[in-house]
Amino acid sequence: MIELKNISKSYGAVHAVRKVDLSVPPGSIYGIIGKSGAGKSTLLRVMSLLEAPDGGEVYYRQERVDILTGKALLERRRKMGMIFQNFNLLSSRDAAGNIAYPLEIGGLHKKQIEKRVDELLEMVNITDKRHARLRELSGGQKQRVAIARALAVNPEVLFCDEATSALDPQTTRSILTLIRELHDSLKITVVLITHQMSVIQSVCSEVAVLDEGIIAEEGVVDAVFKAP
Ligand code: ADP
Ligand code: ADP
Repeated sequence: MIELKNISKSYGAVHAVRKVDLSVPPGSIYGIIGKSGAGKSTLLRVMSLLEAPDGGEVYYRQERVDILTGKALLERRRKMGMIFQNFNLLSSRDAAGNIAYPLEIGGLHKKQIEKRVDELLEMVNITDKRHARLRELSGGQKQRVAIARALAVNPEVLFCDEATSALDPQTTRSILTLIRELHDSLKITVVLITHQMSVIQSVCSEVAVLDEGIIAEEGVVDAVFKAP
């Protein structure tokens, strides 16, 4: 689904990602784990076409995409949804308003937007919170809103940037369960970054271990973390 070839990215003298090769199979839940500063966010921004690498190539469904610009780049990005540790929601809008946002940008009619927002609220199980302001929502509920917003335009890949790191263990489990269910029902590919082994073990099929910008290990979770 996504392939990185020899990807490098530096910030001044800091080599955040060094010559990384990585391949995300379609339909996988692909985890990237590593300590703080290992380069996970940088790698995720390169994969999600938010940032261009200094060197190397990014392929999306066999097509080279790191060299795209303008409309073509925006079109590929539309196939990618993203959620974050801090949710990145608009506090001026209620739950439904946040979910509607990308649909408004996409130019859908009001009626179509309402129908789609209803579907999405149901999908993430917060129909009763439709008109809640963000301050009235728990962390888990905010992440559900963010997931609904990310899925609004039917992306093929969902990128999760430490999506459960701000949540307590029980809420973390419920959000991971939701992500897995959506993965199964929508047939989306999921790429997540985390510093928590428990996240990898509970939802991921594949994993890459990132250490100082280098992939230390990569493969099927059971094989990578099997006791010797
Ligand atoms: P992780 O997500 O694993 O914590 P990051 O990709 O955020 O790692 O960071 C990897 C390295 O790159 C760190 O040393 C970090 O300080 C540096 N870095 C990341 N983004 C920037 C940036 N925008 N400007 C300068 N340095 C950065
Ligand atoms: P920044 O990265 O500086 O926040 P953006 O243009 O990405 O700037 O985002 C501006 C605002 O729009 C932010 O508050 C962000 O949470 C929100 N936002 C970004 N992407 C989306 C999206 N796909 N749907 C709804 N809101 C979004």
